[in-house]
Amino acid sequence: MARYKDSVCRLCRREGIKLYLKGERCYTDKCAVSRRAYAPGQHGQRRTKVSEFGTQLREKQKARRIYGVLESQFRKYFQEADRRKGITGEILLQILESRLDNVVFRLGFALSRAEGRHMVRHGHFSVNGRRVDIPSYQVRPGDVISVREKGKKNARIKEVAEIMEGQGTLEWLEVDRENLAGKVLRIPGREEIDIPVQEHLIVELYSR
Ligand code: SF4
Repeated sequence: MARYKDSVCRLCRREGIKLYLKGERCYTDKCAVSRRAYAPGQHGQRRTKVSEFGTQLREKQKARRIYGVLESQFRKYFQEADRRKGITGEILLQILESRLDNVVFRLGFALSRAEGRHMVRHGHFSVNGRRVDIPSYQVRPGDVISVREKGKKNARIKEVAEIMEGQGTLEWLEVDRENLAGKVLRIPGREEIDIPVQEHLIVELYSR
């Protein structure tokens, strides 16, 4: 599967905000947004007037980059959200939040979504007792996500577990740090999704 391989810090600088794509580094003064708070490239420091389309596009790119989803998949998520009853933008975010790599990150078994994706790909997690190695897998309320025996021996998973020791989790999730397991209690409402995106602009962009 295709994936973005260039510097992820450039993505944050392009959006002008921290997208927290690198885990621990994002919380240090090594963060590229703290050090160079302007867009990357030769003309990054130029002031330009942004059109309505440009604003909508940036909002979509921001959401896509936060969740690490490529354009084709993001568009499919939008089409799915558009099909369902309710507020399309909110449903879109709920679909993105329900991805297994995001839930692994939200539970604190990984320090970034990218790390969550990597761990899921390597088969370190099970959902309801069955091994799942698809980062885009959609979790449902009641699903139990556990680190598999193989994963419990993984040095990075142990390290992250130590960093996260004593930490709680979000209200829509339940975590058992001792046994490296978590449960999805419900799908989060918009007010529980803390990403700085104006989803209505994404809806407007795709509705053009
Ligand atoms: Fe973004 Fe993290 Fe890089 Fe900072 S360190 S620019 S928040 S990915």
